[in-house]
Amino acid sequence: RRDVGRITVGSEAFNELIGGGIETQSITEVFGEFGSGKSQISHELAVTVQLPRDLGGLDGECVFIDTENTFRPERIEQISDGFELDHEEVLQKIHIARAFNSAHQILMADKINELIQSGSNIKLVIVDSLMAHFRAEYVGRESLATRQQKLNQHLHALQNIANTYNVAVFITNQVQARPDAFFGSPTKAIGGHVLGHASTYRIWLKKGLAGKRIARLVDSPHLPEGECVFKITSDGIVD
Ligand code: ATP
Repeated sequence: RRDVGRITVGSEAFNELIGGGIETQSITEVFGEFGSGKSQISHELAVTVQLPRDLGGLDGECVFIDTENTFRPERIEQISDGFELDHEEVLQKIHIARAFNSAHQILMADKINELIQSGSNIKLVIVDSLMAHFRAEYVGRESLATRQQKLNQHLHALQNIANTYNVAVFITNQVQARPDAFFGSPTKAIGGHVLGHASTYRIWLKKGLAGKRIARLVDSPHLPEGECVFKITSDGIVD
């Protein structure tokens, strides 16, 4: 593949786990329970993509598709300050797109093409969270096929942006409550096979002791499975 770019997650251990940062031309998915750090990593990446290449960024802008109203400009300010970046400038390079329902969300992904073609230097697209609307709107067995078909369409559009413009796509996902989770089988992300095949990297986030978080790389085609520990601080994600 031509010049794959990488964006630092902020923690060296985390970067190492995923081969040096999140990749362009790929979809990276994080899933985990509430408070596991999915939105925090999204905010971190929205800042680090703007760093120069020698500091782990891509000198680029980002689109943040916000489906649950989780985007917090104050958080971007704190993380920017941690990197000694001008937070006003950083905020200007984050294109916030609030998606009101799944159809709107799908449309937004299509609009990104126009944004890039009109000259925006987009290097990262974040969808936080990917499944929330789909899950709320398509309830029950009989609507599952339609949901998966729409989801597939959406993921193809995202992968297409990633390939065409050398962009990284980062999506967050919720987990299914599993009655048998106690017996050690990993908690499952929702989205089924459609999503499982679309994401190149899938990372399971867990809460650890004393405010620590654990990231576990699962089902990666060319990296070993493994885990790392990281922390969420006011400056963002650190080792
Ligand atoms: P949900 O499914 O509820 O959206 P999530 O995985 O997206 O969950 P986040 O919002 O990313 O969860 O993580 C929230 C956690 O991040 C908080 O519980 C807290 O531990 C930590 N956190 C958030 N802001 C800060 C901060 N400024 N300083 C330190 N830790 C923070």
